[in-house]
Amino acid sequence: MANHPPENRERFGERTRLVHAGRDPSDQYGFVNTPIYRGSTVLYPTTDDFLNRRAPFPYGTRGTPTIRSLETAWSELAGAAGTVLTASGLAAITIGLLACLKSGDHLLVPDSVYRPTRGFCDGVMRRFGVETTYYDPLVGAGIAELFRPNTAAVFTEAPGSLTFEMQDIPAIVAAAKARDICVLMDNTWATPLFFPPHAMGVDICIEAGTKYLSGGSDLLLGMTSANERWWKPLHDTFYAMAICAGPEDVFLGLRGLRTMALRLKEHERQALDMARWLAARPEVERVLHPALETDPGHAIWRRDFKGASGLFAVVLKPASMTAVAAMLDGLELFGMGASWGGFESLVTPFDPAPFRTVTRWDAAGPALRFHIGLEDLDDLKADLDAGFARLTATK
Ligand SMILES: *Cc1c(COP(=O)(O)O)cnc(C)c1O
Repeated sequence: MANHPPENRERFGERTRLVHAGRDPSDQYGFVNTPIYRGSTVLYPTTDDFLNRRAPFPYGTRGTPTIRSLETAWSELAGAAGTVLTASGLAAITIGLLACLKSGDHLLVPDSVYRPTRGFCDGVMRRFGVETTYYDPLVGAGIAELFRPNTAAVFTEAPGSLTFEMQDIPAIVAAAKARDICVLMDNTWATPLFFPPHAMGVDICIEAGTKYLSGGSDLLLGMTSANERWWKPLHDTFYAMAICAGPEDVFLGLRGLRTMALRLKEHERQALDMARWLAARPEVERVLHPALETDPGHAIWRRDFKGASGLFAVVLKPASMTAVAAMLDGLELFGMGASWGGFESLVTPFDPAPFRTVTRWDAAGPALRFHIGLEDLDDLKADLDAGFARLTATK
């Protein structure tokens, strides 16, 4: 009977593996889930054991059974040699960068990157002597022309935060591999279910577990995984800094993992339906969603990705901020706030123009980012329909 994890899980489908990964009921008195282990001190039976730190978990910062459950499950899902869990998605990014860079190195980062990543590069990384060059996210194989003798890492994110440019990850990987340059990817949008990072050649992969692993807007968590080449530097850097995730958040992450495939499929279906509906609206100039056939990134998305998640954006026809506020402030169902990936729908206005440095954001109208949740689509459309009426009625 199934109170041990099944062996050789590669032969099973993804959903079966998600159900079994990272748990062994026989270790937990038969209980299905690994419980929340809380702990700092770990006791050693003998002096010799203590002096040699001979224990499965030497100290609280070095992991617990709860943490190990999610780390091993995530490595299995991402096809990684190892994974570390951090206290937030941003911490997962910073630990990834610190694992592969040193003073005097040069780093390449896409202009469409998640904005706090840019903040870390321009602040802490610069202070520690790492120089960042921002590049056009659509550069593809042209990335090689930006390599300098001291280029040590290329950061990628597909699609780009807010603006959804599709990066050609295989082309960037091929160029970087020729020079042993580390390729990092923020894969929060697709998750390994829709983009298997390490099989695609990514060295260090970052996921904000805060988003789809949680699915509930109720925790902060990051996962940084690495292939064989980069696992030791990542492991050693992480344990030197000990920026561990909290036990409750890890437990909730494990709980979210079991249903993530189902939720993602539903977010995908709902968001694609909504994106098509928005594309047909007279108030909308264009929709930024790589799974739409009309999207400039569609060919790359179809070649490399197995699905699309619930997050996309639209550019409206020119309208005043007063009109946009009239539209958004009156919404009954959509919430407005940072983050995404939960069961609830969100909309946020944005303007990337002020913080781009090498590409231009030249949309004439205001832009909105949507996360489509699990509500009834007809209700969401009615909410937006009324919002568009307020938009057009306001000057
Ligand atoms: C939200 C987000 C993060 C950071 O996650 P937090 O847990 O909120 O720190 C990183 N990358 C992307 C693309 C995100 O959207």
